[in-house]
Amino acid sequence: MRLNVEIDPGSGFCGGVIRAIGRAEEYLSGGGTLYSLGAIVHNEAELERLGAKGLVTVSSVSEAPSGEALLIRAHGEPPETYSSAAERNLSVIDCTCPVVLKLQQSIREAWERIRGRGELLIFGKPGHAEVLGLVGQTGGGALVVQDLPMLEGLIAQGCIPKEGPLAIFSQTTKSPSEYRVICSRLKKFLSPQASFMVHDTICAQVARRHEKLREFAASHDAIVFVAGVSSSNGKVLYDLCKSVNERTHHIGGPSGIDYSWFSDGDSVGVCGATSTPSWLLEEVAAALASA
Ligand code: SF4
Repeated sequence: MRLNVEIDPGSGFCGGVIRAIGRAEEYLSGGGTLYSLGAIVHNEAELERLGAKGLVTVSSVSEAPSGEALLIRAHGEPPETYSSAAERNLSVIDCTCPVVLKLQQSIREAWERIRGRGELLIFGKPGHAEVLGLVGQTGGGALVVQDLPMLEGLIAQGCIPKEGPLAIFSQTTKSPSEYRVICSRLKKFLSPQASFMVHDTICAQVARRHEKLREFAASHDAIVFVAGVSSSNGKVLYDLCKSVNERTHHIGGPSGIDYSWFSDGDSVGVCGATSTPSWLLEEVAAALASA
């Protein structure tokens, strides 16, 4: 079978992930072990590669041996993580993406202005590491809304003050079109005179990817989307590809390919999430090209 394979030129790690992995590799080049608080990237194959160099993923600060080095990944962390790390005498390698750092600061400032008078909403996935870090900037006071049904639930329970003030921020990797839907529903619900501050905080790299990926997915007979199962951005971008190209398949790597998906002469696009390494996209493309 002959397939015409193209890798999406916009796929691969985002700047925040490249920066975090670069700093981890730089540290590990001196030998020793580096403890990463949570997976540095939601991609199993890349974690294996970095694990071989000495990167160990821990799920809590207390799992890192006292006195060792702790990496904070691009997603960022709530303030308590830094105090727990200091208590355990851990040296922190802070790889919080500068875009997330700026968002955390904006949320802290908005919370200072709004607390006790209105609500602060975060459009994001409950329990996602970045969202936990954002909610942490408000001492747990912010409300998290994942989608329209959840927002309708909050409205029905009287959690959103009709008279405002209300401020909303988005997790950096959410879908720009879904964010618009959430904001326009809130606008409709709030009194016309209510103060409603919409903050455009979706990462520009992610927002640009959405449009480009839509075009890429529509321009091929079939799409192979490569991402780890736990990647939240992967889920969003896979759904986007599927919405414009029904023949979109999600795999973790070359072993997930099922050649019965394709017909001779198909043009196949290979793309992935902000957590998918380029080397993995190339391996998948090579496996498809040799079908
Ligand atoms: S998606 Fe954007 S904000 Fe999030 S880590 Fe990557 S570059 Fe930073």
